[in-house]
Amino acid sequence: MKPMLPTDSALNQEEKIQSEGHSPTANATSLMTHPTTTLTAQDRLEKLGVDLSKYQFIDQRENFKPIISRKWRELSAAVLQAIVQKTAGFAPDPWMLTHIVTTRCNYSCGFCSFADTLNAKHNELTLEEIEQVYATIGRNLNVIVYSGGETTLNRNLAPIIEAAYRLTPVKSVYIISNAWKPDLLFQITHRVMQRCPNLHLTWSLSIEGPKEHNNSIRHTHAESWDAWQNTIDTMEGLKRLREKYGYDQLDVQLCTVCTPDNIHVMDDWYAMIAKELQPDKWNLNLMRRSVQMSNSDLATFEDRRKQQALEPFEQKYVEITEALREDVINGKIKFNYHTATALEGKVKAALDLISQEENRRMVQQQPPTFGCKAGTHGAFIGSEGELGGCEEFVMNPSDTKSFGNLRDVGYDFQKLWHSGTAQKYRELAGKSDECVGCTLESQRNYPSVLASPKNMGRAVKIAMKMDQQ
Ligand code: SF4
Repeated sequence: MKPMLPTDSALNQEEKIQSEGHSPTANATSLMTHPTTTLTAQDRLEKLGVDLSKYQFIDQRENFKPIISRKWRELSAAVLQAIVQKTAGFAPDPWMLTHIVTTRCNYSCGFCSFADTLNAKHNELTLEEIEQVYATIGRNLNVIVYSGGETTLNRNLAPIIEAAYRLTPVKSVYIISNAWKPDLLFQITHRVMQRCPNLHLTWSLSIEGPKEHNNSIRHTHAESWDAWQNTIDTMEGLKRLREKYGYDQLDVQLCTVCTPDNIHVMDDWYAMIAKELQPDKWNLNLMRRSVQMSNSDLATFEDRRKQQALEPFEQKYVEITEALREDVINGKIKFNYHTATALEGKVKAALDLISQEENRRMVQQQPPTFGCKAGTHGAFIGSEGELGGCEEFVMNPSDTKSFGNLRDVGYDFQKLWHSGTAQKYRELAGKSDECVGCTLESQRNYPSVLASPKNMGRAVKIAMKMDQQ
């Protein structure tokens, strides 16, 4: 029998944890039940099958000159400027951008939300075109998420990031990658960390569970291809680079999608992440039925909710993220952000918890705690120059809500961002058919939560609790 939809609010869960002193979900996996093993660093690597000596760019790097930049890169500057623009009656420039640098991918995973468009588009924006777009993107940009396809298949990925650093006030860059070629990711890291000395770089590496499970569902080049080992080697290699070369603004996260195919391994996987793999952070995303997945077996959100019950993979997402929240707040698992101050990193970790809480609310059909600001504070640029508020709006094949193509306006971001079309679709954010059941973290949750004083206050409060651990 499927569990019924929970009805109680998770909004003040941090207070509940403290006052009641117990786990918020009886079924949630507790890290306390998994024994910790103490291994030397070398024993740990051997146990994970990691041999970093086979990679050229661990002990060797090309030297790059830093870009001289005097941009004001603080988030507070972006927020202040956005308030000024809104007060003056203008749509603010975005503070967060999701940029698809390619839709090509060398893997073909069944849960990928780009299923319909993967490898279908080849006319990617060139570096020169992207430079023109970034030069007109405005003064508020603070975070860029580079996504795909497989991001590292765009050979200009490092120069694109450098262009963002030169031409915009971006402070944090996230790169999502399947880590198919560890040495390539090490090369990109050496270059970006040296060229962009005030940039915070985070690699978010995809991995779906223990080795056997991950390699059976990632659909890679050949059966012998060890995608799991590549990801773990890359994570350990990036940690080594941070230590060896003093890349103190480098983070490496692991990212898992909770799907019907991996719920049976999820409890053990969480324990392995926490006790053995120890990434700087673990992202657990929820599989969704995108407008770009016409052939997906997954029922639509509306059809799932008609049953008045959560699907088992949705229930597992709720359980694990609630347990994760308790474990992060109580210091049993760390979300380590290598930021300028410890408090800044803890606030980022708290925002991660709030984002997951918002997804739990969405899946349980509880009222949201903030309105979607895609198209106002968040922008989406597709691989061939389509601009809009989010990928679901831009890429909807039957009813696109794209603001237009940057190629058609001479790469003038401002011209499209302040157009009548943009205004029309901006007002639909959070209210359109695509928004039902939306759990897009980097396009819905993060740009929006920053505009919510109530949630920012909660983030600081949660961060202070972590500080006491
Ligand atoms: S709720 Fe989701 S689909 Fe709707 S505008 Fe926001 S990000 Fe896009």
